[in-house]
Amino acid sequence: MSQYELNQVLLRREGKVGADLDGWLAAGGGEGLLAALHDPAGLIPLIRDAGLRGLGGSGFPTYRKWEFVARQPGPVKYLICNGNEDEPGTFKDRILLEKTPHQVIEGAVIAALACGISHIVFYINPELTGCLSAMRRAVEQWELSELNGVVTALRGAPIEYRVMASSGHYIGGEETAAIESVEGRFPFPRGKPPYPAESGVHGRPTLINNIETLCNLPHIARHGADWYRGLGHGDAAGTKIYCLSGDVLSPGAYELPMGTPLSELIEDYGHGVLMGKELKAVFTGGPSNTILTPKDIDVPLDFDSVAARRSSLGTGAMIVVSEGTGIVKRVAEYVSFFAASSCGQCPPCKTGTYYIAMLLNKIDTGEGTRTDLESLQNLCKILPGSGRCHLVDGAVKVVESSLYHFMNEYTQALR
Ligand code: SF4
Repeated sequence: MSQYELNQVLLRREGKVGADLDGWLAAGGGEGLLAALHDPAGLIPLIRDAGLRGLGGSGFPTYRKWEFVARQPGPVKYLICNGNEDEPGTFKDRILLEKTPHQVIEGAVIAALACGISHIVFYINPELTGCLSAMRRAVEQWELSELNGVVTALRGAPIEYRVMASSGHYIGGEETAAIESVEGRFPFPRGKPPYPAESGVHGRPTLINNIETLCNLPHIARHGADWYRGLGHGDAAGTKIYCLSGDVLSPGAYELPMGTPLSELIEDYGHGVLMGKELKAVFTGGPSNTILTPKDIDVPLDFDSVAARRSSLGTGAMIVVSEGTGIVKRVAEYVSFFAASSCGQCPPCKTGTYYIAMLLNKIDTGEGTRTDLESLQNLCKILPGSGRCHLVDGAVKVVESSLYHFMNEYTQALR
């Protein structure tokens, strides 16, 4: 087995054990859950000590989210397993859902045991039809399994499972929008407070975790916190599935130690920039994040190291851009995506993202003036924080980052 395969935890079983419960159990599945069943009260400290963070983009310590939900009273609590995955450049959760659905289920059940959850919803992008059918089949198998019977006996009541297609809107991945969807409405993000941990689905405490985050749980429960911490480089814990795309020879989803340098991802796994061109930039975490440039090529890809470079790891998507690509055009495409994705509840978001996209397109086509550039800079100052959710902030972030690194391209493009 190669070093790359040895480093893999979540993807090691992909395509080898199949999507059936028997294959998953034969490969060591279920052992983490059995360990969790022995000590449900020890799960939150275990996840804290392991250093697991939200791998859907937030990087928020997982145990802190769990603590909020666990301390809420009442027998009815929800877990939404967020597989909406609709951000350009991100394609990791779909692999886990379709190829290893029992890894997802086991992770969800461990989270449920830790937080006293009674209802688990697998919330999946409707375009991922293979994931939906794999999860439906896997949940049917799971509900009939002996292990599920053990879980029911320990809890004193069965957990209710539901596999549902999300609305397919990008904004449906936002936590409160997902709650609206689960309740059967259009995914309009809600104002906070109350936070989902206090009042989520049908007013009940609700935990929302990303699919990749959940998939780590069986392995941490089985092998322990020190083992998980030791998988990453330096202070970074665990592994990360990096989604490498754009101008590289070998794009793909690569599970590597958290903190793997950007250069290693691009050169050793992506086999370099297409056609031997020079690297110009990398859009990290999908377009809602920020840009890294060739001077950041040595950056370890973990939450803290990337943040120290004025950027963000986000979902772990790395979209490579080679020399000769117009940055203004690329950013205009991304902001147009946000403008089209805005749900329209907050006027500054709906009109602001649309107006930014219009200004970017004007500048990119050589029609922009210095006043347009100043308007763009002003919008980047006044729009952040003006929406109920992060969408408008994400659109501004990518523009600000491009202005910081590539101002010369903006000024050269002016009329
Ligand atoms: Fe909708 Fe935008 Fe407001 Fe978010 S910020 S709730 S996407 S209008």
